[in-house]
Amino acid sequence: MAQRVAGSDGGSKKTSRVRVAVRLRPYMCGQDDPSEQPCVRGLDSQNLEIINWRNAMETVKYHFDVFHGEQTTQQEVFLTSVKPILPHILNGQNASVFAYGPTGAGKTHTMLGTGEQPGVIPRAVREVFNLVRAKDKAQDDGWNYSVGMSYMEIYNEKVLDLLSPNSPDLPIREDKDKNILIPGLTHTTLSSFSDFEKLFVPATLNRTTASTKLNQRSSRSHAILLIKVVRTQRSLPHRQQTGKLYLVDLAGSEDNRRTGNQGIRLKESGAINLSLFTLSKVVDALNSGTAVRVPYRDSKLTRLLQDSLGGSAHSVMITNIAPEYKYYFDTFSALNFAAKSKLIVNKPFTRETVAVPVLPVKRSREEHEAAGSGT
Ligand code: ADP
Ligand code: MG
Repeated sequence: MAQRVAGSDGGSKKTSRVRVAVRLRPYMCGQDDPSEQPCVRGLDSQNLEIINWRNAMETVKYHFDVFHGEQTTQQEVFLTSVKPILPHILNGQNASVFAYGPTGAGKTHTMLGTGEQPGVIPRAVREVFNLVRAKDKAQDDGWNYSVGMSYMEIYNEKVLDLLSPNSPDLPIREDKDKNILIPGLTHTTLSSFSDFEKLFVPATLNRTTASTKLNQRSSRSHAILLIKVVRTQRSLPHRQQTGKLYLVDLAGSEDNRRTGNQGIRLKESGAINLSLFTLSKVVDALNSGTAVRVPYRDSKLTRLLQDSLGGSAHSVMITNIAPEYKYYFDTFSALNFAAKSKLIVNKPFTRETVAVPVLPVKRSREEHEAAGSGT
């Protein structure tokens, strides 16, 4: 799937597509009127349909690289969308996995998960250690491997070190080989998965505890875990290669203009929208297959991910969506961002939807128009 695309520096460089998966979480009873039905449903492993609010007799059908239905387990998401890219980071290549979607749709469940249902992050870190151990055991592999981590947050276009409380806004730099670096960011070597847990768990708890005090900060910031694998040749000339894996729980993609944010929160929304808006432009540019400028430099998030998103990197975006009507417009806009193609199908969503009112009646007319104009 490699394509030739003009780089942001005007030169021509090889870029690869971002694979797009969509995960629909289960319907959560009690969220809406109990008589309501889900407004979106899966069709097969690549397609889903959502009711068309403009015409209840129609559905809109979307096509993706992968569709994970509400029955999909954490293990299946990991095996299908993440595990295949991990061997590359032991060969000095970069990769990124990010969870996109509105707040409440399952990004943190997908990336972090729970003790009983661990998500992409713990599974990927365990797998990196398994891969490194397998290499260490293989006699013919002439390299020594070392694994390390950094953990940061982008909040209001500031890069903050989550392993060093009260860190200042950190700069993002590029070296002569076009590697992206963050001078001053804590980077800790790990010798096992339990080393990782000891650092990651308290840092994540701190972040989510602070969030309830600071206006749901965790839904307004991007949490970025970096796992770095450095390998060094055992014999002369002791060549070194670095592979980076970014695991990102993005800020909520909901349209904050609609929720009536004011003051500081409006400023935050603007900054979040800048990073997410730029990310959508970068992904569109990478996936368009035409020679367009990729606007990495337009936001902190995309600048940080520049060497690990597109180019020779392996990237997966997991778009999380929720089936309840209250998410309808945010689901619609997330799908329009993620879809490879869409098609309006002239048939009712379910037999019931013909008989009962299907529009979310609590929404105002302007909201319908705002959502409609963006499609
Ligand atoms: P987000 O991070 O996008 O705001 P969360 O991951 O916090 O969303 O999910 C919102 C709620 O839905 C949580 O209670 C979470 O446990 C639940 N949830 C999300 N995805 C799933 C899933 N696939 N299966 C079961 N519960 C889920
Ligand atoms: Mg979350």
